[in-house]
Amino acid sequence: MAQHKRYSIATIPGDGIGKEVIPVGQRAAEAVAAKHGFALEWTRFDWSCERYEKTGRMMPEDGIEQVKAHDAIYLGAVGWPGVPDHVSLWGLLIPLRRELDQYANVRPVRLLRGVSSPLANRRPEEIDFIVVRENVEGEYSEIGGRLYRGTADEVAVQEAVFTRRGVDRIMDYAFTLARGRKRKHVASATKSNGIVHTMPFWDERFEAAKKRFPDVETAQYHIDILTAHFVQHPDWFDVVVGSNLFGDILSDLGPAVAGSIGIAPAANINPEGAYPSMFEPVHGSAPDIAGQGIANPVAAVWTAAMMLDHLGEVQAARTLEEAIEISLERPQSRTRDLGGTADTKASEAAILDAIHSL
Ligand code: ATP
Ligand code: MG
Repeated sequence: MAQHKRYSIATIPGDGIGKEVIPVGQRAAEAVAAKHGFALEWTRFDWSCERYEKTGRMMPEDGIEQVKAHDAIYLGAVGWPGVPDHVSLWGLLIPLRRELDQYANVRPVRLLRGVSSPLANRRPEEIDFIVVRENVEGEYSEIGGRLYRGTADEVAVQEAVFTRRGVDRIMDYAFTLARGRKRKHVASATKSNGIVHTMPFWDERFEAAKKRFPDVETAQYHIDILTAHFVQHPDWFDVVVGSNLFGDILSDLGPAVAGSIGIAPAANINPEGAYPSMFEPVHGSAPDIAGQGIANPVAAVWTAAMMLDHLGEVQAARTLEEAIEISLERPQSRTRDLGGTADTKASEAAILDAIHSL
């Protein structure tokens, strides 16, 4: 018998509902792996706010080294009341993203069958785009400072840093992604009418990318009107590329136009594959519903599909996505955030049934 392909995955369930939905994603991924003839090996890490409260650290000192050897990282959510956000962010998420050079943050936005969008009368085929956010430079720099604190002359300065290498590689990622899609279109988020150094540079590098990808169609919008278009004309978009700040805004707005945060997947990608990429649902640890068994596992399952796609198991990823949509067609298989009555278990059962039926 032929040797099965094997992938080693580092799982970090994290806090709250992360611990409830990640196992569902693992079981769904296992089910499609069995169907498509490959194997997944999971190594679980307890890195979380819970760990921080016991040990004073979100992850061990050599944490990055520990996950580096894996093919991918599958993360639930970190954050818990009582632990400041900067601890969970700077103690875990940001070091992982930066040290593993996951410079592309990718969020697909698709209106799934059975889910209603807050935008009235939208059909599934009208909302189907991907937001690509530059994840490691740009506006979120630590350069800047405060002067004359507490006086009437007080000043705060924050510098944004855009490098040619950094902008070109996120453009390449977005254009390459668009090239593999039906519409082959990239829209760039800018604000070069107000931000007069970095954003004209961003626009120049967008122009340069257009020359490298002549087969891809493009458009450019200022961020203010772009947010309005997301709401009024979501059908205009295919791949949308933005800087760290603009991408951050668009990557929360995007999933919101496609329904619940409980279904939205995300990935932090190192496109060259020099380091493992990290796959995490958009939602947080949801302390308000944690422990009740009612969290929507769809975001985690769709995120697992993104992971399989990235690993090269494209057919398995499609099977998983199709199974999600089949499961959502029946109201009794939808969780409460989608207006249904299912708990996490019932939603999982519907997804697994759909996988077996495919
Ligand atoms: P962050 O960790 O990014 O700060 P947050 O605490 O602002 O996130 P979430 O934890 O995502 O936000 O929760 C926002 C709201 O969405 C909460 O009311 C939560 O219950 C709900 N929610 C989030 N994820 C899910 C899910 N998978 N299923 C059902 N409801 C969810
Ligand atoms: Mg939170």
